[in-house]
Amino acid sequence: MQQDILILGAGMAGLIAARQLQSTGYRVTLLDKARGPGGRLASKRLDGWQFDMGAQYITASSTHMQAHTQQWLEAGWLAPWQGEFVHWQHGQWQTHTGAARFVGQPRMSALSRGLSENLELDCGQPVTHICRQEGIWQVSLASGRRYTAPLLISTLPLPQLQHLLNLEPELARHITPHLPDAHYAPCWALGYRLAQPWPCRHVSISLQGHPLLDFICHENSKPGRDGDSIISVQCTAAFSQKHLEVDKTELAQLVWQAVEEITGQHMPVAEHYAHRWLYARTQPASASESCLWLAELGFGAAGDIFTAGKVEGALISALQLAEKIIQTCDPV
Ligand SMILES: Cc1cc2nc3c(=O)[nH]c(=O)nc-3n(C[C@H](O)[C@H](O)[C@H](O)COP(=O)(O)OP(=O)(O)OC[C@H]3O[C@@H](n4cnc5c(N)ncnc54)[C@H](O)[C@@H]3O)c2cc1C
Repeated sequence: MQQDILILGAGMAGLIAARQLQSTGYRVTLLDKARGPGGRLASKRLDGWQFDMGAQYITASSTHMQAHTQQWLEAGWLAPWQGEFVHWQHGQWQTHTGAARFVGQPRMSALSRGLSENLELDCGQPVTHICRQEGIWQVSLASGRRYTAPLLISTLPLPQLQHLLNLEPELARHITPHLPDAHYAPCWALGYRLAQPWPCRHVSISLQGHPLLDFICHENSKPGRDGDSIISVQCTAAFSQKHLEVDKTELAQLVWQAVEEITGQHMPVAEHYAHRWLYARTQPASASESCLWLAELGFGAAGDIFTAGKVEGALISALQLAEKIIQTCDPV
């Protein structure tokens, strides 16, 4: 299937790049290994309950993000998240007074679903090979399906892009030196369905200096979430790194014990779910640019690794890459 641009990865960066480029007249196809778009902007749907398994909320500090947030609010994909947010720092509690928070409604993935409207997506199969012959990129999926285009964008976490590049040493030689140093931390993200209502007034607790816990959230406090009390919990990078191969049931018990200690409440759990993100959070990269664009190869890369490791950073990176492409290449 010949397109103008193939985009690897349909997380925030891939979706934003695709929308910008398609609206300028390029024929774009997004390829993602997951069952649907969103990447780390993910929600897990279980039997009768759900929780946001990746990004918990969005903030908008730049004018670009503010403009997009406004559009998404108007589209109904996003809603303000209000309530009592608190910080826990080495045992001291403080009320959060930072930037406004926004969440997808009725789940975080509603945003990525909205953003993917009218885009051409091929989801559910990993990209297993990329190569460039006579100025045309060829991309193969695990299913054997192949796509071709003169331009290729990667929004994959860099270790996953590097894996593909290493299969074609000549490509790796040209592209790898331009990629920023990648520092990703893993994260265990857990969801708990409680047997009784959440007894705390706090809707989220951000922790600093806790050996195990990074973030606790009462999911029902987010707009559009009804039903049983659901709590999502994220573990620290250090704990997650040390316990990458832990038994999920033991992990869920250990983490819940820590939540009970922090909140001072005993709360029986009806069900739990644990997900391990290997490339969860990025350190702000050493890159001087917010994206990579190699015009001579027709290759670009974007994603949160180029900026601050947040949804907003992924958006900024993708907008900048799309702008560079629009300035240098016309649609075929
Ligand atoms: C647990 C957790 C909590 C977070 N909390 C917040 C938060 O509260 N606020 C915030 O702003 N940010 C948060 N973040 C960070 C935020 O989610 C990311 O910065 C942002 O979503 C990154 O978007 P991206 O498009 O750059 O990458 P991704 O969303 O990772 O997209 C990359 C895509 O590439 C796909 N892919 C990978 N390999 C292949 C392959 N071989 N073939 C095809 N597809 C492939 C993946 O499936 C994925 O969809 C959190 C992240 C995690 C994990």
